[in-house]
This record gives sequence, C-alpha cells and structure tokens, in this order.
Amino acid sequence: MHYHIILTKECNLNCSYCGGGSDSPPKEIQYSISDLKSFLSRDEAPAIEFYGGEPLLRIETMKKIMDAVPGRYVIQTNGLFLDRIEPQYLKKFHSILVSIDGKKDVTDRNRGEGVYDRVMRNIKLIRQNGFSGDLVARMTVPQGTDIYENVLHLAECGAFDHIHWQLGFEMFWEGAEPGLEEWIQSYNTDISLLVGWWIEEMERTHHVPGIVPFTGVMNSLLNGTQSRLRCGSGIDFFAVMPDGRISACPVSIDFDFSVVGSISDTPVSLCNRVLVGEPCISCDIFHICGGRCLFVNHAQDMLRKNGYALICSTVRHLAQELEAAAPLIRELIDSRVIEKDALYYPEFNNGCEIIP
Ligand code: SF4
Ligand code: SF4
Repeated sequence: MHYHIILTKECNLNCSYCGGGSDSPPKEIQYSISDLKSFLSRDEAPAIEFYGGEPLLRIETMKKIMDAVPGRYVIQTNGLFLDRIEPQYLKKFHSILVSIDGKKDVTDRNRGEGVYDRVMRNIKLIRQNGFSGDLVARMTVPQGTDIYENVLHLAECGAFDHIHWQLGFEMFWEGAEPGLEEWIQSYNTDISLLVGWWIEEMERTHHVPGIVPFTGVMNSLLNGTQSRLRCGSGIDFFAVMPDGRISACPVSIDFDFSVVGSISDTPVSLCNRVLVGEPCISCDIFHICGGRCLFVNHAQDMLRKNGYALICSTVRHLAQELEAAAPLIRELIDSRVIEKDALYYPEFNNGCEIIP
C-alpha cells in the first residue's frame, strides 16, 4: 500500500490557496523511526511518499527513514530545497512531484516571487545529480487559471515526464469569490482543446504526452476497468500524521471523519474504514470518476450551494471528451503510432489523484 509520511506541518511558502499548511499541533513527528519501521514492516511492498508542510524542511529525518525502511520512495515538494538532496538519496526516489502552477507569472503569483525560477533551476540540478525517475509537475488550479496555456507551457518546456493538476478547493467553498460558473465553462472548453492537442501530439510525435488526468482515465476506458476512488485515500493510501495517527487523506488530517487508526494498527486493517458516499455511489459515472475526492465528499456542507454539481460538471466533461477520443486512440494503438503501454500510468499510485 501507499503512505504519505507528514515529516512536518511547517512550510517555507505561504501559497495563496493554502496559507502554509495545517496549524494544529503537533507539527513535528512524535513517533520513533523504529515505530514507523515496525508499522511499515507489516506491509509487504510499501510505497512511501514524503509530504508536509514542506518535507524537505526535515531532510535529515527523511534520510534516516530512507536508511531504515525498505520501500519505494516518492516525495511531494515545493521544490525549493531539492538542491539539498545528496545524489545517493536522489537516486532512491521512484518519483518526485514538484509543485508548480504553470508559467512563471502564474506560479509566482500563487506561490511567491522567484519560486518558478528556483524550481526550474533545481529540477535541472537533480537530473544532473543522478535522479532518473519520474518527474511530475503538480499544478494547483485556482479559479481564473488558463489551464490550456499553463499545461502546454509545462509540457513544452520539456523538463517534466508528467503533468498533473488538481482544482483548488477554496473556490468551491461557501463565500468564495463570484464568477465560478463562468470560469468552469472556460475551464471545460480548455480541457477540450487540451485533449485535441494531446491527440495531435501523439499523431505528430508517436509519443503520448504525460498528461496524467488523460492517461489515467483513458487507460481505464480502453481496458474497461472500473475505478474506485482514484487517489486511493482510505482504500490503499494513508497519511501518517506527526502524532502517529493515520488519516485516510493527507489533506483532511484535521477532520475527524478522516482519522482511521494509528501506526500501532496493522496496515491492512485500515482499509475501507472510510469511503465516499452519496451522491457519488449512485452516480452514473462513478465507475470512471471513483468519487473524485474523499475529503470533498465528506465536507459537502462546507461547499457553496451548487459547489458539488460544479465540480462534477468538470469531471463529466473530462470523461465525455476522453470517451469521445477513445476510438481514435484505439486506432493509433492498432496502427502502431503509439504503444498501448504508454498509457499505462501511473504504474502505482504515486500521489497523482488522476481526476482533477
Ligand atoms: S462525477 Fe461527481 S457525483 Fe459522480 S462520482 Fe464523480 S464526484 Fe461523484
Ligand atoms: S483527492 Fe481528495 S481525498 Fe484524495 S488525496 Fe486529494 S484531497 Fe485527499
């Protein structure tokens, strides 16, 4: 299974849609690494994903865990301290997920002046220092974002293997700024344009651009597989909180519904203790969407009146566009323009939620 290890709740940025992470105590790890090791040793093949706050603020703890616990390693980081990871540890990472929102002006507006340049410099450096794994750009998409232009920017810069995005939560909250309906319409139009670009790129280059929401859903459509919650929260992905309790989702750690146990439990006993409920389980595209987000599903009372319906309209649009594109993708596979395996992503749940 998969585990987010929250190394600290502290962050060295104060992004507009986050505000520096959770403030609830404790902020730092209270359990011993041997306790963590003992918990993870009861899982045959753990995938361990460092998370925060900003995990690289506690680089020494991270290294101690990597030295002590065998497993597949992933990190989600804002990228500012990637230059501090020594080559022997960099080489151990299967995937590095770096927060970046697209173009320089967009990233710096959301995350702070100079962030884009530091991230781009650091990702070049980790490649030079021996990181050969999967480099994923993780975008947060607040209201007003031009998703087409910003995804294209990250795809065309050539630095990332994959690009994933997630809609910002706060725009769906009660009392959020007006104009959301109009922006959702333009977002959906941009998704159509992006799917068109994605297919044209396959025809032109014989390569599948690593647009995670598209590959993840298309792979299921082509194989006819039914999906449960794609981020895996509460199913096979858990977050180890600094006090040793386990949350189904790394974002909803301060919500009671999300706490499913602690590191004194056996990992497998944590599975399916909290699941998505209505309206998802009666939804006609549940098998494609999987319920999108456990947190939002359990926090519906925090959303603006039509918030859930607006989120779902984006999922429906994405699914429709990809279903419409599926016959063409099949043709490209049959005529050997692209390899079917190129759509097999992610190989394991690497922290990309698939459905934005
Ligand atoms: S489209 Fe909406 S209602 Fe349907 S499964 Fe997804 S999140 Fe749930
Ligand atoms: S999609 Fe929702 S439930 Fe899943 S990890 Fe993200 S915030 Fe948590």
